[in-house]
Amino acid sequence: MRRVLLSLVVLSSMGMAQAAAANAGSGANPGYDDTPLLRNAAGVELPWRVHDRRRPRPDVVAGARCVSVPPPADAVVLFDGVSSAAWRSGDKPAAWAVRDGCMLAGGGDLRSAETFSDAQVHLEWRAPIENTKQGQQRGNSGVFFMERYEVQILESHGSITYADGQAAALYGQWPPLVNACAAAGEWNSYDIVFRAPQFDPEGKCTQAARVTMLHNGVLVHSERAFMGATAHKALAQYSAHGPAALRLQDHGDAVAFRNIWLRRLAASGDSK
Ligand code: MG
Repeated sequence: MRRVLLSLVVLSSMGMAQAAAANAGSGANPGYDDTPLLRNAAGVELPWRVHDRRRPRPDVVAGARCVSVPPPADAVVLFDGVSSAAWRSGDKPAAWAVRDGCMLAGGGDLRSAETFSDAQVHLEWRAPIENTKQGQQRGNSGVFFMERYEVQILESHGSITYADGQAAALYGQWPPLVNACAAAGEWNSYDIVFRAPQFDPEGKCTQAARVTMLHNGVLVHSERAFMGATAHKALAQYSAHGPAALRLQDHGDAVAFRNIWLRRLAASGDSK
């Protein structure tokens, strides 16, 4: 009898663990309650855990639409609808398919051939319309500045996930101010000003990376400071680095990209 009870307890706890895992990124109340409490870039503890299921999801702004901005004369054009030559898959040419004026995620992450620090980036993305998945599995990709700092890409119009993991979130750290996401199958625009982190000679971060951003023309971050390099279910941390590639994430969903360009900016501490 005791053995039967023990088995029931074990089976029951396994079931709960599986349910929790299945509910982590999608479901009625997705997220985690066993991750570390976040600390902002100044080291102050926040009331929210990493991917906290209790963290309020931003209000939805209906009617926001993709704002397509052609590359200005001083931009580095990273994708013009035809050539993916500005990107690499490891040390090889970009593996992503180019079709109908789009690059389609698939074949591993892409890294820009050139490296960058402070930058203004415009890109447009579209989640697959035929997608039946939910939460973190629904049109997941991302744009990583300096290879490390992810602005999330996710179909967040008709699908919920934890607040710090939805579209335009600084993944695992800050939800956007509002949810301006377009429906699956419609284009979204990101216009992002990224300020690179600064480090002292000992490698200590003296100035956090910061982001100001419009999603479909709507402000979603204003001088928001990254807590460190993007992490999953863990606290972000800084470690010193120099200029690095822009990285596009392949998370297993055929997210489409078009019209990607970047303007190099003088470091925010410079007089220019
Ligand atoms: Mg992502």
